[in-house]
Amino acid sequence: MRIETIAVHAGHAVDPGTGAVTPAIHPSTTYERAPDGTYPRGYLYSRNDNPNRSALEACLAALEGGAAAAAFASASAATSAVLLALRPGDHVVAPADAYHGTLRLLRETFAAWGLQTTFVDMTAPEAVAGALRPGTRLVWVETPSNPLWKVADIARLAALARDAGALCVCDNTTATPILQSPLRLGADLVVHATTKYLGGHGDVMGGAVVAREPGGLFDRVRALQAAGGAVPSPFDCWLVLRGVRTLPWRMRAHSANAQRVADFLAGHAGVEAVHYPGLATHPGHDVARRQMAGFGGMLSVQVRGGAAAAMAVAARLRVFTRATSFGGTESLVEHRASIEGPGTRTPENLLRLSVGLENADDLIEDLARALAEGTER
Ligand SMILES: *Cc1c(COP(=O)(O)O)cnc(C)c1O
Repeated sequence: MRIETIAVHAGHAVDPGTGAVTPAIHPSTTYERAPDGTYPRGYLYSRNDNPNRSALEACLAALEGGAAAAAFASASAATSAVLLALRPGDHVVAPADAYHGTLRLLRETFAAWGLQTTFVDMTAPEAVAGALRPGTRLVWVETPSNPLWKVADIARLAALARDAGALCVCDNTTATPILQSPLRLGADLVVHATTKYLGGHGDVMGGAVVAREPGGLFDRVRALQAAGGAVPSPFDCWLVLRGVRTLPWRMRAHSANAQRVADFLAGHAGVEAVHYPGLATHPGHDVARRQMAGFGGMLSVQVRGGAAAAMAVAARLRVFTRATSFGGTESLVEHRASIEGPGTRTPENLLRLSVGLENADDLIEDLARALAEGTER
């Protein structure tokens, strides 16, 4: 089956009891036992499992080409479960520019718990090789990475991890399984913020861990899902699954719109730099062409004139909404350094754009006007 067909059908069957074509939502927290005390229908208590969660997990596993998936209440909960599945004293190699919530978990919560982390530039495989040591259990990869959309070579890093006896985990949130298949490139686990493109409409939080093979660390993640209880509600699972149905088509449109916006900005006099893997000038362009089926909907722009000029451009935009997050239908703009706070490495004049599903001409006109009004004064 091709990806569009998997996205529409995986984890879904017509309800045998009612004939309902669209899946029902099962809010029940508990499930009936048979007279002999068994659970012949497979469900016991909703924290352990429920029909909406198992449908979503089957769909996510199929989309990534994995054996199994575990859904969580957020990607931060999914990330925490992967790290909790390790042991105090274990060593992790992680990107210096990982998602800021992941960085905070590694630096604060898990450092205090006894996990050791070396932060490296994932676009430099020799830096990753140099950071590996006998106790390394995990190489954490996130590509393209926020907010410069740096591209790490997944196959290369997964091979380095394997040779060192470590697992490779890839946060595939920004690329999605439509544009990038980390498990096929050798990664062992994939992490997702389904909050973003998979949900796709800015109305549900969720996360997931997908495993190439059952067993090993994934079994501990699965156990932590039920024991830790950071699980998504049946309605959350239903919403994410509904979002996934249109994911392949949305990702194509997000990518096409982002490419047009990036091309426009790259030629604009008020712009210092554009960071988008789809531009031939981007340092990760060649690796992205090799491992991605499209360049995605996220890009960043550095505005001439510093932080104040960037803030002013964001303030003048009308079609783009000033807000954090990404992956919804509507375009968003964010001054990234101020949301990340003190100590951020993000340039002060950088605006991050989540390019939505509007007409690209309207987005370009909005940006053109916001940039031009700045230079007129
Ligand atoms: C948003 C995001 C996360 C965290 O997702 P939550 O669902 O908000 O916890 C993790 N990784 C990446 C790459 C993200 O963009």
